[in-house]
Amino acid sequence: MSLRNVPDNMCPIATEYTTMLTGDWRALRPIVDRDRCVKCATCWLYCPVQCVVEKAAWFDFNYDYCKGCGICAEECPHRAIKMVEEAEG
Ligand code: SF4
Ligand code: SF4
Repeated sequence: MSLRNVPDNMCPIATEYTTMLTGDWRALRPIVDRDRCVKCATCWLYCPVQCVVEKAAWFDFNYDYCKGCGICAEECPHRAIKMVEEAEG
């Protein structure tokens, strides 16, 4: 497999391809306020693991891959994302 053909859910590390599924170690998860989201896609642009997904009227997150880093919440210009403890989610 050439680097050009690496699927979105795979991470090339040296010569091995490793799935980027998040384990049970994530402490925080992003929650979107659908009334505040204006679908500007800033969160999608900044997410380092490309796990922001488009819904009909807002953007949401694929928690299988989300690492809970909080970058999306920091960058959202409308403060539509808050980070909550995993147990609260
Ligand atoms: S950055 Fe905020 S307002 Fe923009 S799409 Fe993401 S959640 Fe919605
Ligand atoms: S918390 Fe981090 S990994 Fe999860 S959706 Fe936001 S930017 Fe992406």
